[in-house]
Amino acid sequence: MRRSTDLIVIGSGSIGVPVALEFAKNGQSVLVIDSLASPGQGQDKKAIGGIRATHSDKGKIKVCQRSIEIFSHWKELYGREIQWESNGYSFPAYTEEDEKLLKDTMRIQTDFGLNITWLSPEEYRELNPGIRMGGLRGSTYSPEDGSASPLLFVHSAYFKAVECRAEFKFNEKVVGFRIENHKITRVKTNKGSYESANVLNAAGIYAKEISQMAGVDIPVEPDSHEAGITEPVKTFMGPMVVDIRKDMGSKNFYFYQNSIGHVLFCLTPEPPIWGADSRATSVFLPMIARRMISIMPMLTNLKVRRTWRGQYPNTPDGLPIVGKMEEPDNFFQAVGMCGQGFMLGPGIAELMYRIITDNLNPEDPEVLESFDLRRDFAREEVYR
Ligand SMILES: Cc1cc2nc3c(=O)[nH]c(=O)nc-3n(C[C@H](O)[C@H](O)[C@H](O)COP(=O)(O)OP(=O)(O)OC[C@H]3O[C@@H](n4cnc5c(N)ncnc54)[C@H](O)[C@@H]3O)c2cc1C
Repeated sequence: MRRSTDLIVIGSGSIGVPVALEFAKNGQSVLVIDSLASPGQGQDKKAIGGIRATHSDKGKIKVCQRSIEIFSHWKELYGREIQWESNGYSFPAYTEEDEKLLKDTMRIQTDFGLNITWLSPEEYRELNPGIRMGGLRGSTYSPEDGSASPLLFVHSAYFKAVECRAEFKFNEKVVGFRIENHKITRVKTNKGSYESANVLNAAGIYAKEISQMAGVDIPVEPDSHEAGITEPVKTFMGPMVVDIRKDMGSKNFYFYQNSIGHVLFCLTPEPPIWGADSRATSVFLPMIARRMISIMPMLTNLKVRRTWRGQYPNTPDGLPIVGKMEEPDNFFQAVGMCGQGFMLGPGIAELMYRIITDNLNPEDPEVLESFDLRRDFAREEVYR
């Protein structure tokens, strides 16, 4: 029989892989199980690579600040390219209402020590020269936010984790648990079963099903979003543009140019499209193309290479669920990452290590309060 591990991670995505690396590099034995064929094949590869700490909740801010430190030093730490670029984020305002919302949120963000300022329309045009000036009231600018490639990152973390002796089982689906004396004693898959001191649910949009196997109900639902990428062109953009205005069929949309010249874009449909159907639609591209050209007319002749559809593992308040369960008491969650699982990944991995090894730092309890499953989920993150 196979020996027991310190930790079984269910899911080798944006969260599961950095968690495995964190445990393996600290000398713990870790087994990652994923039903798909290789790392990052769930929602990780659907992400467009945006990374920001400029949220409105302390927990998310703190975790993403740490993630940015890790992403920005990744190449020095691990020797692999992840296309990190400190290109910043910007939220331009075209209405008085949006200007007020952005400025109110900025006050919370600066109180948390984030580097974010308000730019006049002329100052903003210096950064994003193609921006439509008519009606522009100004924009936020947070220069320390950035971007990287989710697939390069997940593979880089995977290779390093394997080097540190983490074990990965692909094409293997978790189908149940054996629970005895308040503990998960075996993780059952379609191919066998495994013993571990601790079990972490990092199953993304399938986290609810996994959690139900342990008798714990969690509010995580798949919420569909589509995205796309253009041909690469010479750098012409500064920070990511997030337009928070609503339009017919959509809420906000956002786009940026990555370090090798592609423009990546994504849109939040309104009403939301719930469920895990990943067939791309024919309405997405005309809708977002019109919106992008209206805010940056110079995009008109840029050629789109590909579009795709994926899902955010959403919670009702836009905040993740992270922590130890009371029952079974060796069961942990790092789920409900919404539209920010890639940027949260490295910071959540370190936090998870401190939780499971019972070594919290003085700031962690407050962060974990935001991510606690027992919260009422009534509050909503401002730009979720
Ligand atoms: C269009 C789009 C754009 C996005 N853009 C961004 C962005 O710019 N920045 C950002 O931070 N985030 C972005 N996201 C969100 C991000 O992709 C997710 O939040 C993140 O991937 C969730 O990470 P995860 O590890 O929880 O899930 P995943 O990465 O999906 O990993 C979960 C893994 O669990 C496995 N699994 C599930 N059930 C089982 C089972 N029973 N047995 C074994 N394995 C199982 C799955 O196969 C999967 O590999 C975007 C998402 C979409 C759809």
